[in-house]
Amino acid sequence: ATTPLRSVNCKVLKQCVRWNHSCPPTTKLYLNGKMVESKTSEWIDLHNPATNEVVTRAPKSTKTEMEDAVMACKETFKTWSKTSPISRQQIMFRYQNIIKANMKQLAENITMEQGKTLIDAEGDVLRGLQVVEQAAFSRSLQMGETLQGVAKDLDIHSYRVPLGVTAAITPFNFPAMIPLWTIPYAITLGNTHLLKPSERDPGACMMLVEMLTEAGCPPGVVNVIHGAHKAVDFICDHPDIRSISFVGSDNAGKHIYKRGSEAGKRVQCNMGAKNHGVLMPDANKANSLNQLVGAAFGAAGQRCMALSTAVFVGETKNWICDLKQRAQQLTVSAGHCPGTDVGPVISPQAKQRICELIQSAVDEGATLLLDGRDIVVKGYEKGNFVGPTILTDVKPHMKCYKEEIFGPVLVVLFADTLDEAIEIVNSNPYGNGTAIFTNNGATARKFTQEIDVGQVGINVPIPVPLPMFSFTGSRGSFLGDCHFYGKQGVQFYTQTKTVTQLWRESDVTHSKASVAMPV
Ligand code: NAD
Repeated sequence: ATTPLRSVNCKVLKQCVRWNHSCPPTTKLYLNGKMVESKTSEWIDLHNPATNEVVTRAPKSTKTEMEDAVMACKETFKTWSKTSPISRQQIMFRYQNIIKANMKQLAENITMEQGKTLIDAEGDVLRGLQVVEQAAFSRSLQMGETLQGVAKDLDIHSYRVPLGVTAAITPFNFPAMIPLWTIPYAITLGNTHLLKPSERDPGACMMLVEMLTEAGCPPGVVNVIHGAHKAVDFICDHPDIRSISFVGSDNAGKHIYKRGSEAGKRVQCNMGAKNHGVLMPDANKANSLNQLVGAAFGAAGQRCMALSTAVFVGETKNWICDLKQRAQQLTVSAGHCPGTDVGPVISPQAKQRICELIQSAVDEGATLLLDGRDIVVKGYEKGNFVGPTILTDVKPHMKCYKEEIFGPVLVVLFADTLDEAIEIVNSNPYGNGTAIFTNNGATARKFTQEIDVGQVGINVPIPVPLPMFSFTGSRGSFLGDCHFYGKQGVQFYTQTKTVTQLWRESDVTHSKASVAMPV
Protein backbone atom coordinates (compact mmCIF):
# COMPACT_ATOMS: atom_id res chain seq x y z
CA ALA A 1 0.00 0.00 0.00
CA THR A 2 1.30 3.44 -0.74
CA THR A 3 1.49 5.98 2.04
CA PRO A 4 0.18 9.40 1.00
CA LEU A 5 2.87 12.04 0.69
CA ARG A 6 2.94 14.05 3.84
CA SER A 7 5.29 16.72 4.95
CA VAL A 8 7.11 16.58 8.25
CA ASN A 9 7.05 19.53 10.53
CA CYS A 10 10.82 19.85 10.42
CA LYS A 11 12.10 21.48 13.57
CA VAL A 12 15.54 21.92 12.06
CA LEU A 13 14.39 24.13 9.21
CA LYS A 14 11.86 25.97 11.33
CA GLN A 15 14.45 26.97 13.86
CA CYS A 16 16.75 28.21 11.09
CA VAL A 17 14.06 30.25 9.41
CA ARG A 18 12.96 31.89 12.63
CA TRP A 19 16.32 32.65 14.11
CA ASN A 20 17.05 35.83 15.84
CA HIS A 21 20.21 37.49 14.47
CA SER A 22 21.69 38.17 17.88
CA CYS A 23 21.21 34.57 18.96
CA PRO A 24 21.29 32.03 16.11
CA PRO A 25 19.79 28.59 16.77
CA THR A 26 22.01 25.68 17.64
CA THR A 27 22.26 22.46 15.66
CA LYS A 28 21.23 19.57 17.88
CA LEU A 29 22.69 16.13 18.37
CA TYR A 30 20.48 13.20 17.48
CA LEU A 31 20.66 10.62 20.24
CA ASN A 32 18.32 7.71 20.71
CA GLY A 33 15.62 9.22 18.54
CA LYS A 34 15.71 12.68 20.13
CA MET A 35 17.15 16.05 19.15
CA VAL A 36 19.40 16.91 22.08
CA GLU A 37 21.14 20.19 22.92
CA SER A 38 24.87 19.63 23.34
CA LYS A 39 26.48 20.44 26.67
CA THR A 40 29.71 21.44 24.95
CA SER A 41 31.48 24.74 25.44
CA GLU A 42 32.93 24.63 21.89
CA TRP A 43 30.74 25.72 18.98
CA ILE A 44 31.32 26.23 15.26
CA ASP A 45 29.49 29.16 13.65
CA LEU A 46 27.89 28.31 10.32
CA HIS A 47 27.51 31.10 7.80
CA ASN A 48 25.20 31.47 4.85
CA PRO A 49 27.78 31.55 2.00
CA ALA A 50 25.76 34.18 0.11
CA THR A 51 25.70 36.69 2.98
CA ASN A 52 28.15 35.41 5.58
CA GLU A 53 25.49 35.83 8.27
CA VAL A 54 25.55 33.18 10.97
CA VAL A 55 22.62 30.81 10.43
CA THR A 56 23.30 28.22 13.10
CA ARG A 57 25.98 27.00 15.49
CA ALA A 58 27.13 23.41 15.43
CA PRO A 59 28.53 21.87 18.60
CA LYS A 60 31.80 20.03 18.93
CA SER A 61 30.26 17.06 20.72
CA THR A 62 31.71 16.16 24.10
CA LYS A 63 33.36 12.78 24.67
CA THR A 64 30.38 11.71 26.81
CA GLU A 65 27.91 12.63 24.07
CA MET A 66 29.90 10.70 21.49
CA GLU A 67 30.09 7.69 23.83
CA ASP A 68 26.33 7.94 24.38
CA ALA A 69 25.78 7.89 20.62
CA VAL A 70 27.89 4.76 20.14
CA MET A 71 26.20 3.11 23.11
CA ALA A 72 22.78 3.87 21.61
CA CYS A 73 23.90 2.28 18.32
CA LYS A 74 25.37 -0.74 20.11
CA GLU A 75 22.33 -1.41 22.30
CA THR A 76 19.85 -0.88 19.47
CA PHE A 77 21.77 -3.26 17.22
CA LYS A 78 20.71 -6.14 19.48
CA THR A 79 17.06 -5.67 18.54
CA TRP A 80 17.35 -3.95 15.15
CA SER A 81 19.48 -6.73 13.65
CA LYS A 82 16.69 -9.19 14.51
CA THR A 83 13.94 -7.25 12.75
CA SER A 84 12.91 -8.79 9.45
CA PRO A 85 14.33 -7.47 6.18
CA ILE A 86 10.74 -6.93 5.08
CA SER A 87 9.91 -4.60 7.97
CA ARG A 88 13.12 -2.66 7.35
CA GLN A 89 12.15 -2.39 3.71
CA GLN A 90 8.75 -0.97 4.65
CA ILE A 91 10.49 1.84 6.54
CA MET A 92 12.42 2.70 3.37
CA PHE A 93 9.18 2.86 1.38
CA ARG A 94 7.70 5.33 3.86
CA TYR A 95 11.01 7.23 4.07
CA GLN A 96 11.04 7.66 0.31
CA ASN A 97 7.58 9.25 0.38
CA ILE A 98 8.42 11.56 3.26
CA ILE A 99 11.61 12.80 1.60
CA LYS A 100 9.71 13.47 -1.63
CA ALA A 101 7.07 15.45 0.23
CA ASN A 102 9.73 17.55 1.97
CA MET A 103 12.05 18.08 -0.97
CA LYS A 104 11.56 21.84 -1.05
CA GLN A 105 12.20 22.27 2.67
CA LEU A 106 15.38 20.22 2.39
CA ALA A 107 16.51 22.22 -0.63
CA GLU A 108 15.91 25.52 1.20
CA ASN A 109 18.08 24.39 4.08
CA ILE A 110 20.84 23.24 1.71
CA THR A 111 20.81 26.55 -0.14
CA MET A 112 20.98 28.48 3.12
CA GLU A 113 23.83 26.49 4.65
CA GLN A 114 25.76 25.38 1.57
CA GLY A 115 24.98 28.07 -1.01
CA LYS A 116 24.05 26.02 -4.09
CA THR A 117 21.01 27.00 -6.16
CA LEU A 118 17.59 25.71 -5.11
CA ILE A 119 17.24 23.55 -8.20
CA ASP A 120 20.68 22.07 -7.66
CA ALA A 121 19.84 21.49 -3.99
CA GLU A 122 16.77 19.52 -5.08
CA GLY A 123 19.09 17.47 -7.29
CA ASP A 124 21.26 16.83 -4.22
CA VAL A 125 18.22 15.36 -2.43
CA LEU A 126 16.97 13.47 -5.50
CA ARG A 127 20.24 11.63 -6.08
CA GLY A 128 20.13 10.54 -2.44
CA LEU A 129 16.49 9.56 -2.73
CA GLN A 130 17.41 7.16 -5.52
CA VAL A 131 19.69 5.36 -3.07
CA VAL A 132 16.81 5.05 -0.60
CA GLU A 133 14.71 3.50 -3.37
CA GLN A 134 17.46 1.09 -4.35
CA ALA A 135 18.23 0.10 -0.76
CA ALA A 136 14.59 -0.88 -0.31
CA PHE A 137 15.29 -3.63 -2.83
CA SER A 138 18.58 -4.84 -1.41
CA ARG A 139 16.97 -7.94 0.13
CA SER A 140 17.84 -10.29 -2.71
CA LEU A 141 21.44 -9.01 -2.73
CA GLN A 142 21.67 -9.94 0.94
CA MET A 143 20.87 -13.57 0.21
CA GLY A 144 23.65 -16.03 0.89
CA GLU A 145 24.68 -19.21 -0.93
CA THR A 146 23.94 -22.83 -0.34
CA LEU A 147 25.20 -26.23 -1.46
CA GLN A 148 23.33 -29.32 -0.47
CA GLY A 149 24.98 -32.67 0.21
CA VAL A 150 28.65 -31.65 0.09
CA ALA A 151 29.29 -34.89 1.99
CA LYS A 152 26.93 -37.54 3.25
CA ASP A 153 24.08 -35.76 5.09
CA LEU A 154 26.16 -32.58 5.20
CA ASP A 155 24.96 -29.21 3.83
CA ILE A 156 26.71 -25.85 3.76
CA HIS A 157 25.02 -22.51 3.50
CA SER A 158 26.11 -18.95 4.05
CA TYR A 159 24.31 -15.83 5.28
CA ARG A 160 25.19 -12.20 4.75
CA VAL A 161 24.78 -10.71 8.21
CA PRO A 162 25.13 -7.10 9.38
CA LEU A 163 28.40 -5.85 10.87
CA GLY A 164 27.05 -4.02 13.94
CA VAL A 165 27.71 -0.33 14.57
CA THR A 166 28.69 1.39 11.32
CA ALA A 167 29.77 5.03 10.96
CA ALA A 168 29.87 7.69 8.26
CA ILE A 169 31.84 10.93 8.00
CA THR A 170 30.52 13.19 5.25
CA PRO A 171 31.57 16.35 3.35
CA PHE A 172 29.96 19.74 2.87
CA ASN A 173 29.30 19.66 -0.86
CA PHE A 174 26.35 17.21 -0.91
CA PRO A 175 24.78 17.59 2.53
CA ALA A 176 21.75 15.42 1.67
CA MET A 177 22.98 13.02 -1.00
CA ILE A 178 25.99 11.67 0.83
CA PRO A 179 24.30 10.90 4.16
CA LEU A 180 21.76 9.14 1.93
CA TRP A 181 24.54 7.10 0.31
CA THR A 182 25.13 5.46 3.68
CA ILE A 183 22.01 5.56 5.93
CA PRO A 184 19.67 3.47 3.72
CA TYR A 185 22.13 0.69 2.94
CA ALA A 186 23.60 0.49 6.43
CA ILE A 187 20.25 0.19 8.19
CA THR A 188 18.18 -1.88 5.75
CA LEU A 189 20.94 -4.48 5.99
CA GLY A 190 20.44 -4.59 9.76
CA ASN A 191 23.25 -2.36 11.03
CA THR A 192 22.95 0.67 13.24
CA HIS A 193 24.58 3.88 12.05
CA LEU A 194 26.50 6.75 13.59
CA LEU A 195 26.78 9.86 11.43
CA LYS A 196 29.15 12.78 11.67
CA PRO A 197 28.00 15.19 8.98
CA SER A 198 30.14 18.05 7.78
CA GLU A 199 30.45 20.69 10.48
CA ARG A 200 29.88 23.26 7.72
CA ASP A 201 26.30 22.29 6.77
CA PRO A 202 24.76 19.60 8.99
CA GLY A 203 21.15 20.87 8.65
CA ALA A 204 20.02 18.60 5.80
CA CYS A 205 21.35 15.54 7.61
CA MET A 206 19.41 16.53 10.73
CA MET A 207 16.22 16.92 8.72
CA LEU A 208 16.80 13.54 7.10
CA VAL A 209 17.16 11.74 10.42
CA GLU A 210 14.02 13.46 11.69
CA MET A 211 12.21 12.15 8.61
CA LEU A 212 13.57 8.67 9.21
CA THR A 213 11.97 8.61 12.65
CA GLU A 214 8.74 9.83 11.07
CA ALA A 215 9.01 6.86 8.70
CA GLY A 216 8.96 4.50 11.66
CA CYS A 217 12.65 3.86 12.23
CA PRO A 218 13.09 3.01 15.94
CA PRO A 219 15.12 5.32 18.21
CA GLY A 220 18.82 4.48 18.38
CA VAL A 221 19.13 2.96 14.90
CA VAL A 222 20.71 6.18 13.61
CA ASN A 223 22.53 8.65 15.87
CA VAL A 224 24.24 11.90 14.89
CA ILE A 225 27.20 13.62 16.51
CA HIS A 226 28.91 16.83 15.40
CA GLY A 227 32.42 18.16 15.42
CA ALA A 228 35.61 18.19 13.42
CA HIS A 229 38.89 16.32 13.80
CA LYS A 230 38.35 15.09 17.37
CA ALA A 231 35.00 13.56 16.47
CA VAL A 232 36.61 11.91 13.45
CA ASP A 233 39.43 10.42 15.53
CA PHE A 234 36.90 9.24 18.10
CA ILE A 235 35.14 7.29 15.33
CA CYS A 236 38.42 5.89 13.96
CA ASP A 237 39.49 4.62 17.38
CA HIS A 238 36.27 3.42 18.99
CA PRO A 239 36.39 -0.37 19.47
CA ASP A 240 32.61 -0.79 19.09
CA ILE A 241 32.48 0.78 15.63
CA ARG A 242 32.96 -1.84 12.92
CA SER A 243 33.14 0.22 9.74
CA ILE A 244 33.69 3.76 8.47
CA SER A 245 32.36 5.25 5.27
CA PHE A 246 34.15 8.49 4.46
CA VAL A 247 33.61 11.01 1.68
CA GLY A 248 35.74 14.15 1.54
CA SER A 249 39.19 15.49 0.82
CA ASP A 250 42.43 13.54 0.32
CA ASN A 251 44.12 14.52 3.56
CA ALA A 252 41.20 13.53 5.73
CA GLY A 253 40.56 10.35 3.70
CA LYS A 254 44.13 9.09 3.93
CA HIS A 255 44.21 9.82 7.66
CA ILE A 256 40.88 8.07 8.30
CA TYR A 257 41.78 5.06 6.14
CA LYS A 258 45.04 4.52 8.01
CA ARG A 259 43.76 5.19 11.50
CA GLY A 260 40.49 3.29 11.02
CA SER A 261 42.20 0.28 9.39
CA GLU A 262 44.81 0.14 12.12
CA ALA A 263 41.95 -0.07 14.62
CA GLY A 264 40.65 -3.12 12.71
CA LYS A 265 37.72 -1.46 10.94
CA ARG A 266 36.43 -1.92 7.45
CA VAL A 267 36.97 1.48 5.75
CA GLN A 268 35.85 2.95 2.42
CA CYS A 269 37.09 6.44 1.49
CA ASN A 270 35.89 8.46 -1.50
CA MET A 271 38.25 11.38 -1.95
CA GLY A 272 39.30 14.23 -4.24
CA ALA A 273 39.19 14.42 -8.00
CA LYS A 274 40.42 16.11 -11.12
CA ASN A 275 37.94 15.01 -13.77
CA HIS A 276 38.86 15.51 -17.42
CA GLY A 277 36.44 16.13 -20.26
CA VAL A 278 37.93 15.22 -23.64
CA LEU A 279 36.51 17.04 -26.68
CA MET A 280 36.91 15.39 -30.08
CA PRO A 281 36.57 17.31 -33.36
CA ASP A 282 33.70 15.05 -34.49
CA ALA A 283 31.58 15.91 -31.45
CA ASN A 284 28.46 18.05 -31.61
CA LYS A 285 30.11 21.38 -30.82
CA ALA A 286 27.25 23.32 -29.23
CA ASN A 287 26.04 20.40 -27.19
CA SER A 288 29.50 19.41 -25.93
CA LEU A 289 30.41 22.97 -24.94
CA ASN A 290 27.12 23.38 -23.07
CA GLN A 291 27.68 20.11 -21.24
CA LEU A 292 31.23 21.12 -20.37
CA VAL A 293 30.22 24.57 -19.10
CA GLY A 294 27.39 23.10 -17.01
CA ALA A 295 29.61 20.42 -15.49
CA ALA A 296 32.54 22.78 -14.83
CA PHE A 297 30.65 25.67 -13.24
CA GLY A 298 27.47 24.05 -11.86
CA ALA A 299 27.38 24.02 -8.04
CA ALA A 300 30.21 26.60 -8.30
CA GLY A 301 32.52 23.73 -9.25
CA GLN A 302 32.08 22.15 -5.82
CA ARG A 303 31.19 18.68 -7.06
CA CYS A 304 33.55 15.75 -6.83
CA MET A 305 32.41 14.85 -10.35
CA ALA A 306 32.70 18.38 -11.76
CA LEU A 307 34.49 18.45 -15.11
CA SER A 308 37.17 20.77 -13.81
CA THR A 309 39.67 19.99 -16.59
CA ALA A 310 39.10 19.97 -20.33
CA VAL A 311 41.34 18.48 -23.00
CA PHE A 312 40.59 20.01 -26.40
CA VAL A 313 41.84 17.64 -29.11
CA GLY A 314 43.06 18.81 -32.54
CA GLU A 315 41.02 21.54 -34.19
CA THR A 316 38.63 21.83 -31.23
CA LYS A 317 41.10 24.38 -29.89
CA ASN A 318 39.25 26.79 -32.18
CA TRP A 319 36.16 26.32 -29.99
CA ILE A 320 37.69 28.23 -27.09
CA CYS A 321 36.04 31.59 -27.91
CA ASP A 322 32.67 29.91 -28.00
CA LEU A 323 33.42 28.24 -24.67
CA LYS A 324 34.15 31.62 -23.12
CA GLN A 325 30.92 33.14 -24.46
CA ARG A 326 28.85 30.31 -22.99
CA ALA A 327 30.54 30.65 -19.58
CA GLN A 328 29.91 34.42 -19.63
CA GLN A 329 26.18 33.80 -20.04
CA LEU A 330 25.94 32.23 -16.59
CA THR A 331 24.36 34.31 -13.82
CA VAL A 332 26.26 34.46 -10.55
CA SER A 333 24.12 35.23 -7.50
CA ALA A 334 22.71 33.86 -4.27
CA GLY A 335 21.38 30.32 -4.60
CA HIS A 336 17.81 31.23 -3.65
CA CYS A 337 17.54 34.00 -6.28
CA PRO A 338 15.60 32.90 -9.36
CA GLY A 339 17.77 32.57 -12.45
CA THR A 340 21.02 31.96 -10.58
CA ASP A 341 23.36 29.51 -12.30
CA VAL A 342 26.41 29.82 -10.07
CA GLY A 343 26.07 30.34 -6.32
CA PRO A 344 28.77 31.24 -3.81
CA VAL A 345 31.56 28.93 -2.66
CA ILE A 346 31.36 27.59 0.85
CA SER A 347 33.57 30.04 2.78
CA PRO A 348 35.80 33.10 2.48
CA GLN A 349 38.78 30.76 3.01
CA ALA A 350 37.66 28.59 0.08
CA LYS A 351 37.32 31.72 -2.08
CA GLN A 352 40.79 32.89 -1.11
CA ARG A 353 42.32 29.49 -1.89
CA ILE A 354 40.60 29.40 -5.30
CA CYS A 355 41.82 32.92 -6.13
CA GLU A 356 45.37 32.02 -5.09
CA LEU A 357 45.32 28.96 -7.35
CA ILE A 358 44.14 31.11 -10.27
CA GLN A 359 46.99 33.54 -9.62
CA SER A 360 49.51 30.69 -9.40
CA ALA A 361 48.40 29.55 -12.86
CA VAL A 362 48.95 33.02 -14.29
CA ASP A 363 52.38 33.18 -12.61
CA GLU A 364 53.30 29.79 -14.10
CA GLY A 365 52.40 30.90 -17.66
CA ALA A 366 48.78 29.85 -18.19
CA THR A 367 46.42 32.17 -20.09
CA LEU A 368 43.58 33.67 -18.04
CA LEU A 369 40.83 33.62 -20.64
CA LEU A 370 38.03 34.50 -18.22
CA ASP A 371 38.64 35.90 -14.74
CA GLY A 372 35.86 35.62 -12.14
CA ARG A 373 37.85 36.76 -9.12
CA ASP A 374 36.62 40.31 -8.81
CA ILE A 375 32.95 39.68 -9.24
CA VAL A 376 30.61 41.66 -6.99
CA VAL A 377 27.02 40.45 -6.65
CA LYS A 378 24.58 43.28 -6.06
CA GLY A 379 22.75 42.84 -2.76
CA TYR A 380 25.16 40.10 -1.70
CA GLU A 381 28.42 42.03 -1.52
CA LYS A 382 29.60 40.01 1.49
CA GLY A 383 29.06 36.63 -0.19
CA ASN A 384 31.85 34.24 -1.22
CA PHE A 385 31.37 34.59 -4.94
CA VAL A 386 33.80 33.60 -7.66
CA GLY A 387 32.59 33.98 -11.25
CA PRO A 388 33.27 31.36 -13.93
CA THR A 389 36.99 31.36 -14.67
CA ILE A 390 38.80 29.71 -17.58
CA LEU A 391 42.54 29.04 -17.74
CA THR A 392 43.97 27.83 -21.04
CA ASP A 393 47.45 26.65 -22.10
CA VAL A 394 47.65 24.81 -18.79
CA LYS A 395 50.46 22.26 -18.47
CA PRO A 396 50.51 19.19 -16.18
CA HIS A 397 53.32 20.56 -13.99
CA MET A 398 51.28 23.63 -12.95
CA LYS A 399 49.82 23.84 -9.46
CA CYS A 400 46.34 24.63 -10.84
CA TYR A 401 46.45 21.29 -12.66
CA LYS A 402 47.93 19.21 -9.88
CA GLU A 403 45.60 20.42 -7.11
CA GLU A 404 41.85 20.01 -6.90
CA ILE A 405 40.57 23.63 -7.12
CA PHE A 406 36.97 22.88 -6.06
CA GLY A 407 35.62 26.16 -7.39
CA PRO A 408 34.15 27.51 -10.65
CA VAL A 409 37.44 27.27 -12.52
CA LEU A 410 37.96 25.30 -15.73
CA VAL A 411 41.54 24.47 -16.67
CA VAL A 412 42.10 23.73 -20.34
CA LEU A 413 44.86 21.67 -21.93
CA PHE A 414 45.39 21.07 -25.63
CA ALA A 415 46.28 17.73 -27.26
CA ASP A 416 46.94 16.83 -30.90
CA THR A 417 45.50 13.32 -30.80
CA LEU A 418 43.17 11.07 -28.82
CA ASP A 419 46.20 9.01 -27.71
CA GLU A 420 47.79 12.13 -26.27
CA ALA A 421 44.56 13.04 -24.45
CA ILE A 422 44.31 9.52 -22.97
CA GLU A 423 47.94 9.77 -21.86
CA ILE A 424 47.20 13.07 -20.08
CA VAL A 425 44.18 11.64 -18.24
CA ASN A 426 45.95 8.41 -17.28
CA SER A 427 49.01 10.28 -15.97
CA ASN A 428 46.85 12.25 -13.53
CA PRO A 429 46.79 10.57 -10.12
CA TYR A 430 43.02 10.87 -9.67
CA GLY A 431 40.49 8.41 -11.11
CA ASN A 432 37.05 9.62 -10.07
CA GLY A 433 35.40 10.39 -13.39
CA THR A 434 36.02 11.39 -16.98
CA ALA A 435 33.99 12.07 -20.10
CA ILE A 436 34.56 12.09 -23.83
CA PHE A 437 32.47 14.03 -26.33
CA THR A 438 32.43 12.34 -29.74
CA ASN A 439 30.11 11.10 -32.44
CA ASN A 440 32.38 8.21 -33.35
CA GLY A 441 31.63 4.85 -31.75
CA ALA A 442 35.12 3.50 -32.35
CA THR A 443 36.66 6.55 -30.66
CA ALA A 444 34.32 6.13 -27.71
CA ARG A 445 35.15 2.44 -27.48
CA LYS A 446 38.90 3.03 -27.58
CA PHE A 447 38.57 5.69 -24.89
CA THR A 448 36.46 3.45 -22.65
CA GLN A 449 38.92 0.61 -22.99
CA GLU A 450 42.17 2.53 -22.54
CA ILE A 451 41.20 5.09 -19.93
CA ASP A 452 42.23 4.28 -16.35
CA VAL A 453 39.40 6.05 -14.54
CA GLY A 454 36.61 4.40 -12.56
CA GLN A 455 33.60 6.25 -14.01
CA VAL A 456 33.42 7.07 -17.70
CA GLY A 457 30.87 9.20 -19.56
CA ILE A 458 30.36 9.04 -23.32
CA ASN A 459 28.65 12.33 -24.20
CA VAL A 460 27.60 12.38 -20.52
CA PRO A 461 29.50 15.00 -18.56
CA ILE A 462 28.92 13.84 -14.98
CA PRO A 463 28.75 10.06 -15.13
CA VAL A 464 27.61 9.30 -11.58
CA PRO A 465 26.09 5.83 -11.84
CA LEU A 466 22.54 5.20 -10.64
CA PRO A 467 22.53 3.26 -7.38
CA MET A 468 21.75 -0.16 -8.86
CA PHE A 469 25.44 0.23 -9.78
CA SER A 470 28.12 1.46 -7.38
CA PHE A 471 30.05 4.75 -7.28
CA THR A 472 33.33 3.42 -8.66
CA GLY A 473 35.96 6.15 -8.47
CA SER A 474 39.45 4.68 -8.64
CA ARG A 475 43.19 5.30 -8.11
CA GLY A 476 43.83 8.51 -6.07
CA SER A 477 40.11 9.14 -5.63
CA PHE A 478 39.38 6.01 -3.60
CA LEU A 479 40.78 3.89 -0.79
CA GLY A 480 39.16 0.62 0.17
CA ASP A 481 37.79 -2.55 -1.41
CA CYS A 482 34.04 -2.07 -1.67
CA HIS A 483 32.45 1.04 -3.14
CA PHE A 484 29.38 2.95 -1.96
CA TYR A 485 25.87 1.60 -2.67
CA GLY A 486 24.79 -0.99 -5.28
CA LYS A 487 26.06 -4.59 -4.88
CA GLN A 488 29.32 -3.35 -3.43
CA GLY A 489 27.42 -1.34 -0.81
CA VAL A 490 25.70 -4.56 0.30
CA GLN A 491 29.08 -6.28 0.55
CA PHE A 492 30.53 -3.39 2.53
CA TYR A 493 27.77 -3.40 5.13
CA THR A 494 27.55 -7.18 5.59
CA GLN A 495 29.85 -10.03 6.52
CA THR A 496 29.52 -13.67 5.61
CA LYS A 497 28.63 -16.34 8.10
CA THR A 498 28.97 -19.88 6.76
CA VAL A 499 27.20 -22.78 8.42
CA THR A 500 28.16 -26.41 7.91
CA GLN A 501 25.50 -28.78 9.21
CA LEU A 502 25.07 -32.48 9.55
CA TRP A 503 21.63 -33.97 10.05
CA ARG A 504 21.41 -37.79 10.03
CA GLU A 505 18.33 -39.85 10.32
CA SER A 506 20.11 -42.20 12.71
CA ASP A 507 23.42 -41.50 14.42
CA VAL A 508 26.24 -44.02 14.03
CA THR A 509 28.27 -44.15 17.24
CA HIS A 510 31.95 -45.13 16.87
CA SER A 511 33.91 -46.63 19.71
CA LYS A 512 36.74 -44.07 19.40
CA ALA A 513 37.02 -40.42 18.36
CA SER A 514 38.64 -39.78 14.99
CA VAL A 515 41.36 -37.11 15.03
CA ALA A 516 42.11 -37.05 11.29
CA MET A 517 41.20 -33.94 9.28
CA PRO A 518 37.62 -34.45 8.08
CA VAL A 519 37.57 -34.75 4.30
P1 NAD B 1 36.79 17.57 4.13
O1 NAD B 1 37.75 16.46 4.02
O2 NAD B 1 37.27 18.88 4.56
O3 NAD B 1 35.64 17.16 5.16
C1 NAD B 1 34.99 15.89 5.09
C2 NAD B 1 34.80 15.36 6.50
O4 NAD B 1 36.08 15.04 7.06
C3 NAD B 1 34.13 16.36 7.42
O5 NAD B 1 33.14 15.67 8.16
C4 NAD B 1 35.27 16.89 8.28
O6 NAD B 1 34.87 17.16 9.58
C5 NAD B 1 36.30 15.78 8.27
N1 NAD B 1 37.70 16.26 8.21
C6 NAD B 1 38.16 17.27 7.46
N2 NAD B 1 39.51 17.39 7.60
C7 NAD B 1 39.89 16.43 8.46
C8 NAD B 1 41.14 16.00 8.98
N3 NAD B 1 42.27 16.61 8.64
N4 NAD B 1 41.16 14.97 9.84
C9 NAD B 1 40.03 14.34 10.17
N5 NAD B 1 38.81 14.69 9.69
C10 NAD B 1 38.73 15.71 8.85
O7 NAD B 1 36.02 17.64 2.73
P2 NAD B 1 35.01 18.77 2.29
O8 NAD B 1 35.78 20.01 2.03
O9 NAD B 1 33.87 18.81 3.21
O10 NAD B 1 34.48 18.17 0.90
C11 NAD B 1 35.10 18.42 -0.33
C12 NAD B 1 36.01 17.29 -0.73
O11 NAD B 1 35.26 16.08 -0.76
C13 NAD B 1 36.58 17.45 -2.11
O12 NAD B 1 37.91 17.03 -2.10
C14 NAD B 1 35.73 16.53 -2.96
O13 NAD B 1 36.33 16.07 -4.14
C15 NAD B 1 35.49 15.43 -2.01
N6 NAD B 1 34.32 14.66 -2.38
C16 NAD B 1 34.52 13.45 -2.94
C17 NAD B 1 33.45 12.70 -3.34
C18 NAD B 1 33.66 11.36 -3.97
O14 NAD B 1 32.70 10.60 -4.04
N7 NAD B 1 34.85 11.05 -4.44
C19 NAD B 1 32.14 13.18 -3.16
C20 NAD B 1 31.98 14.44 -2.57
C21 NAD B 1 33.08 15.17 -2.18
